[in-house]
Amino acid sequence: MQTPHSQPNILVTGGAGYIGSHAAIRLLDDGHAVTVIDNLSRGNRGAIAQLARVGGARFCFVECALDDTAKLCEVMRASATEIVMHFAALAYVGESMERPLEYFTNNVVGGISLLNAMCASDVRKIVFSSTCATYGEPASENIPIQESLLQLPINPYGRSKLQFEEILRAECARANDANPLAAIALRYFNVAGADRALRVGEDHRPESHLIPLALEVAANTRESVMIFGTDYPTHDGTCVRDYVHVEDLVDAHIKAISALQGGEFHAWNVGTGRGHSVREVIESCRRITGHRIPERIGTRRAGDPAQLFADARAITRDLHWHAQHTELDSIVSSAWNWMQANPCGYQ
Ligand code: UDP
Repeated sequence: MQTPHSQPNILVTGGAGYIGSHAAIRLLDDGHAVTVIDNLSRGNRGAIAQLARVGGARFCFVECALDDTAKLCEVMRASATEIVMHFAALAYVGESMERPLEYFTNNVVGGISLLNAMCASDVRKIVFSSTCATYGEPASENIPIQESLLQLPINPYGRSKLQFEEILRAECARANDANPLAAIALRYFNVAGADRALRVGEDHRPESHLIPLALEVAANTRESVMIFGTDYPTHDGTCVRDYVHVEDLVDAHIKAISALQGGEFHAWNVGTGRGHSVREVIESCRRITGHRIPERIGTRRAGDPAQLFADARAITRDLHWHAQHTELDSIVSSAWNWMQANPCGYQ
């Protein structure tokens, strides 16, 4: 692949997925050469087509599974990868409760295969998609959550992400290494919204996330949205989460690139520092779409903590990152714009 720019070549794992495709498009916009690997088990070919359109000769896609270390080595060598952004993962809390082995296999064993390939190909920089689910169910006095909080995940998804953080931390601290690993874990809170130019967006099948589900009701492709529990110890009884716009999240990755230091592992929260309840999210969807969005009350979903929102001061202090979309309505309206422009998603 040609590298006409001075920007480092980046390998994006899971680049056909929601967050990975937004990261890849931003990297292409910024002039990087980008190689995406994805096994397409959850990702969208439509996202790859968009990336190819935007990136031209600076973009390459290889269908490859994380556990294929030899193929990963080949791809890294062929693309002269300098930095890996690792998004490929299974990422549903509820599903992880039902299929823990798949989560550990994909998210931990797959990650180890990726690291082995990096090591063999002399690629020593990685930005890893971690999650606030690694914190588990923090006591109310520990909310907003700081990075120093003891991580005690309560579901296999959170545990698998924490285990890979620990592997990265140990690799960075490897003794007597002339070319040590540099790793940054970004602990995402709840990501929503879409590319402002609507080139890529959120299209999960099946969809399980609150904002797209509520918007599907407004788009008349779903009858109602279910609230998973109204008996949580929160101001209105529903779960509170910190919703961050996907473009802001991607911007944190861009800022992380310049903070990668050999032999160092760092982790930062990426959130807005504000929590919104399920009811508030549905209200925002009603405001933005003008649709009444009928709701049904259901029971709690296994593995869901009552409230999670970030103390995001560390990433602001250290990486000069600020969320641009600080209002929930702005995030919801971005997701709605994508859905209206793409009523069938990528299909
Ligand atoms: N939620 C809900 N109904 C749904 C989907 C989600 O009430 O149909 C709730 C869920 O229990 C959680 C919040 O909305 O408290 C955000 O869930 P989502 O699946 O969007 O993200 P997660 O927090 O699991 O990453």
